[in-house]
Amino acid sequence: MTEKSMTMQEMVAQLNRWAYEYYVLDDPSVPDTQYDALYDQLVLLEKQTGVVLPDSPTHRVGGEPLSSFHQHTHLKRLYSLDKVQSFGELREWVDKVERVLGRTEFTVELKYDGLTINVTYRDGVLVGAATRGNGVTGEDVTEQVKTIRSVPLVIPFKGACELQGEGIMRLSVLDRYNRAHPADTLKNARNAAAGAIRNLDPKVTAERSLDVVFYSNGYEEGLDVASQTELVEFLRGCGMRTNYVFEKAYTFEQIKAIIEKIGSQRSSYDFLIDGVVIKVNDFALRERLGYTDKFPKWAVAYKFDAEQVTTTLTDVEWQVGRTGKLTPIGKLEAVELCGATIRRATLNNYGDILRKRLKKDALVFLRRSNDVIPEVMGAAEEGGTDIPKPTHCPACGSPLQETGANLYCVNAEHCRPQIVARIAHYCSKHACDIEGLSDKTVELLVDRLGVHSVADLYSLTEADLSPLFVQGDKESKKARNVVLAIEKSKQVPLAQFIFALGLDNVGTVTARDLAARFGSVEALSAATVEQLQAIEGIGEVVAEGIVQYFSESQNREILRRLGEIGIDPRYTVRTAQGAFVGKKVVLTGSLSRYTRSQAAALIEQRGGEIASSVSKSVNLVIVGEDAGSKLDKARALGIEIADEEAFEQMLRD
Ligand SMILES: [Zn+2]
Repeated sequence: MTEKSMTMQEMVAQLNRWAYEYYVLDDPSVPDTQYDALYDQLVLLEKQTGVVLPDSPTHRVGGEPLSSFHQHTHLKRLYSLDKVQSFGELREWVDKVERVLGRTEFTVELKYDGLTINVTYRDGVLVGAATRGNGVTGEDVTEQVKTIRSVPLVIPFKGACELQGEGIMRLSVLDRYNRAHPADTLKNARNAAAGAIRNLDPKVTAERSLDVVFYSNGYEEGLDVASQTELVEFLRGCGMRTNYVFEKAYTFEQIKAIIEKIGSQRSSYDFLIDGVVIKVNDFALRERLGYTDKFPKWAVAYKFDAEQVTTTLTDVEWQVGRTGKLTPIGKLEAVELCGATIRRATLNNYGDILRKRLKKDALVFLRRSNDVIPEVMGAAEEGGTDIPKPTHCPACGSPLQETGANLYCVNAEHCRPQIVARIAHYCSKHACDIEGLSDKTVELLVDRLGVHSVADLYSLTEADLSPLFVQGDKESKKARNVVLAIEKSKQVPLAQFIFALGLDNVGTVTARDLAARFGSVEALSAATVEQLQAIEGIGEVVAEGIVQYFSESQNREILRRLGEIGIDPRYTVRTAQGAFVGKKVVLTGSLSRYTRSQAAALIEQRGGEIASSVSKSVNLVIVGEDAGSKLDKARALGIEIADEEAFEQMLRD
């Protein structure tokens, strides 16, 4: 058959077959020129007849830009996966599955690092595509996804179905794109893919030559697949690209061996991965395991170690904190790491700079794991210039004092960043919880209203505060609310007040212990190092810091003034009776009528002890909305669980 005599259906079928060979199988059977010639012929025929078949490749070029994205509600919720970061955690997960199912067949696949999309087919035609969004609704990106040639426009299956895949840009494609667009290079394949799909102009998506790798199904009508293996066969039968790695395993050791192999080959892949996904193969067995509030229990993502890159340390800036401690902040030549652009990273202290042999204008190793702040690991080359040790405070010019590995500005009373940070800390949520005073507002209080210590807050009036807020209908209301919030803070519980004072090394837990032991600020201020050290968890350094704080005249003066204002909280003695006596309690999820600290205080007042994580020694877990893994763990350990209503009943008991 010559190409001239082909029908439109035949042309479309031929072009799609060639495209499938090229884009999915990576094995073209004809040169590009032959494809282009037939494609041009089809375009002409479509123009002449005004007919465009639903699977015509001419749909791929991308239509007009959209003005905004519509929301798409997925027919079935898309779950995200629970994560493990070590083989120990992975073994626990496998054990948990095997406790329920016995010997189990697992599948092991790559976890591509791109943008998850959900595509909808009806009557065999691609009718929609959306981003994952929050799992329930996402952005409608149908026009964008239609341009991706490895996503079939028609499939043989005629029932309605939603299928999920990861939109990615292959590294070779990224490289080619960057060579063709030297003025406008893309730095990171993941961001390039996500940015292309979430671009209002479908032509941009088309230009980036993305791929979608399919791996999961959601809603379906009559799709007869009973396992991941069968699903992959189905997807391949639809002409879709599926996971580059698809292996089966029956034991933890086998899974581990596959992961190690993937880890060793990872850098040779033509795409980014950030881990490996392990699933129970059989769908019926998956149902037996079920879901937590957030995750399926039958799958887990093993995340690879943090990514590491090198970049140049261009300068070091010294920040002065609440206690006068100087923290060096490394300024870096912008670098992409785990999908984010990094320009700054903390260097901890001067001792750390020496230990890591960091030099200015020299390469350093930078590491980041998922959501953790980036960290400079060490020098990556010899050379560069020494980073001078500052001798004077960059903010107030006072000579610095060296204590251990740290440098301190001891001009506590007049060094602006210290004053601002102390007041901001006093107002913060776990301290006096004064709403409406952000760090920026505190700076204004200091700079424009001459607020010098936390005691000055209590003489502020609405008239003082109004000019600080953006003019408009709400400014006076905002000022009034701040005055009310300041007033309310006079009732702060002792533990929060001790924390609010901002003593060096005294966090919320230590503050609570101090409140329970001493009962008032006055008693605490008279405590000796020995008395303090008698408290579990308080060492010599912390104890000496506390004694030092109360020995300083400016601190005593602030406490005296706060006392005059009426702030002198007392520790409420725990009653020996109540529902929580002798109980170790964990709070998880959000309660509708209590903040977490309020609930914790109520429990403690009734003789309970708050723990932060679920373990065998915990007696009770109180569960609010959106409780996560703690709830699962509590269930697994058979610990008593109470919802908000039951909690309130306990408070009344
Ligand atoms: Zn200073």
